[in-house]
Amino acid sequence: MKIPFLNLSPMHLEIKTQMQDAFASVYDSNWFIMGGQLSSFEKAYAGFNQTKYAIGVSNGLDALFLALKALGIGTGDEVIVPSNTYIASLLAISYTGATPILAEPDSETCNIDPAQISAIITSRTKAILPVHLYGQACKMDTIMEIAGKHGLYVIEDNAQAHGASFKGKLTGSWGNVNGTSFYPGKNLGALGDGGAVTTDSDDLAQKVNMLRNYGSLEKYKHDIIGHNMRLDEMQAAFLEVKLKYIQNWTRQGRR
Ligand SMILES: *Cc1c(COP(=O)(O)O)cnc(C)c1O
Repeated sequence: MKIPFLNLSPMHLEIKTQMQDAFASVYDSNWFIMGGQLSSFEKAYAGFNQTKYAIGVSNGLDALFLALKALGIGTGDEVIVPSNTYIASLLAISYTGATPILAEPDSETCNIDPAQISAIITSRTKAILPVHLYGQACKMDTIMEIAGKHGLYVIEDNAQAHGASFKGKLTGSWGNVNGTSFYPGKNLGALGDGGAVTTDSDDLAQKVNMLRNYGSLEKYKHDIIGHNMRLDEMQAAFLEVKLKYIQNWTRQGRR
């Protein structure tokens, strides 16, 4: 019996009518960027991830980049990241001008080893970027403790772990500001590219809000040098439908 690595068909068949309705709703509204559908999904995803804010962005790489930028990380800074992650976690750091410093994994979990983190902290270290690989949560209590002791920020890469938790607290809700991806192959996937930044901080949420939309909160008023890294209304509508099913699909996937 050949078991496919990922088969979206059964899931997409189950929700076909709802997805077509979501498409029709955005299509008929003629509003495609930064509208009510995005706000609605952001609220739903923040509720799901148990954070005060979720900010929809273009993809997972941009989510991590914007999270790092919002913290003011840049040239001359070092960010500790697992050596065995996907390249996006490192590129996000490089894009800010900071240097990724690689930490080796724990041989049992294959996730970043907290003991390895402590060994590579220098006076330039600004942040730790743990990655919850294959849906398995990193040892977040120990990582937060190390960060607190050394005055470092924590940015979780939650691209592979929607709905995972460590000691009862969801991944993507531990760090100062976190990034996730809705690439079609992720546990929660759009029908195209997408991502989100999650945080409990009013200040960081506002910075990411501005950075993703040309440095602007108010039309034609641009206070900082921003980017065009937004999640569009169509993907937000599709994601809001799929979010209702993610817990059930995760259970089925595990089985
Ligand atoms: C997929 C992935 C990303 C990047 O997400 P994109 O939406 O493809 O940019 C980042 N980190 C990890 C661990 C990933 O698996």
